[in-house]
Amino acid sequence: TFDGLRTHDWMRRFAESVYATEAELTALDQQAGDGDFGTNLAAGVSAAGPLLDRMGGPVGPAEPLGAMATAFLDEIGGTSGPLFGLLFQALSRAAAGSGPTLTTAALAEGATQGLAAIRRVGDASPGDKTLVDALTPAVAALRAAEGASPATALAAAADGAWQGVRDTASLTARMGRASYLGERASGIPDPGAVGVALFFASANGAVR
Ligand code: ADP
Ligand code: MG
Ligand code: MG
Repeated sequence: TFDGLRTHDWMRRFAESVYATEAELTALDQQAGDGDFGTNLAAGVSAAGPLLDRMGGPVGPAEPLGAMATAFLDEIGGTSGPLFGLLFQALSRAAAGSGPTLTTAALAEGATQGLAAIRRVGDASPGDKTLVDALTPAVAALRAAEGASPATALAAAADGAWQGVRDTASLTARMGRASYLGERASGIPDPGAVGVALFFASANGAVR
């Protein structure tokens, strides 16, 4: 079952990279928001930890993503908790239809649906300086990677997301708390966008 993308491993790696980056994420949200983004994201991955632990033995690709969705949707406050939860939920649903391993097509479909759900709920458009600015190019990269391996597709998604993060630094926020600061948050990348880039980047190594 594991000769593809190991989503359990991916979620573990994501948790590690969130813990390693928590202070930086907090510092970004202190400059552009209310300073709790690092805490919120770390709380999400740590709430998912016991659910991932409980999955002894091989599991399909949907379950670990589903555990993340449950943790973020049910337990985490802030704006970002439910929005990340929607992404994980859509990826989990697409993974469930993809068979024993997560295919590039399912990744593209799940991320597309996740972005749509996030935009429906949060009402942000590209250019508003939110996580949508990282997720949009990541989704485009996944869709363009049709036919490539999940590893290649996810590496392209991470590149796209990091480019989106860099772009947010020059934007003025129009949504969320950072919008209260207007121009004063210019030069600072959006913390939620960084979180999305960390998510795709942490798939590196979880794929074979
Ligand atoms: P809060 O602002 O409630 O403290 P967090 O600190 O958990 O929420 O998350 C902040 C991040 O949420 C921002 O960096 C941004 O990426 C994202 N965000 C805020 N508002 C929206 C929105 N309407 N749509 C999409 N993402 C948003
Ligand atoms: Mg915040
Ligand atoms: Mg808050």
